[in-house]
Amino acid sequence: MGKEAVKISKLDVDKLLKEMNAALAEEWLAYYQYWIGARVMEGQMRSNIEPELLKHADEELHHAEMLVERIKQLDGVPLLSPKEWFTHAQCAYETPTDFYIERILEQNLRGERCAIERYQHIAEYTIGKDYATYRMAVEILEDEIDHEDDIESWMADFRRMREDFLQVKERV
Ligand code: FE
Ligand code: FE
Repeated sequence: MGKEAVKISKLDVDKLLKEMNAALAEEWLAYYQYWIGARVMEGQMRSNIEPELLKHADEELHHAEMLVERIKQLDGVPLLSPKEWFTHAQCAYETPTDFYIERILEQNLRGERCAIERYQHIAEYTIGKDYATYRMAVEILEDEIDHEDDIESWMADFRRMREDFLQVKERV
């Protein structure tokens, strides 16, 4: 247990732990959102994008590990039951109902944007006060920004494909 780790952080550790547990819940929900979405999605480019979504899922799981590590260092208790995920998470879990690949990507994109806000907030709360948590938040934030960027570029490819298709159709 990190007594000194707690002592040196110049902020409300309980408040921080609450937010980190919310983030932990969100990471697990994001993991499953990607994992199940990748498996049920349908449509073109599915075989290209599926492994990429599973890679994102792995990274969300890694974020969960980083959070648990830091929660423990701060003498906190990580959420112990999946039942708590929905009561702590602020980012929505969106059950896939339309399996078309672009709808699945839109769900993931909303999750990423929520995650970016979460880690931006943890970074702002901890900057200059708790360097270890700050560094963790920035590292995760950078991954979430990459995730958002990946999804936006796949969605742009789909738009482009649609435009090209319409142009070809017009010429025929
Ligand atoms: Fe994440
Ligand atoms: Fe992410």
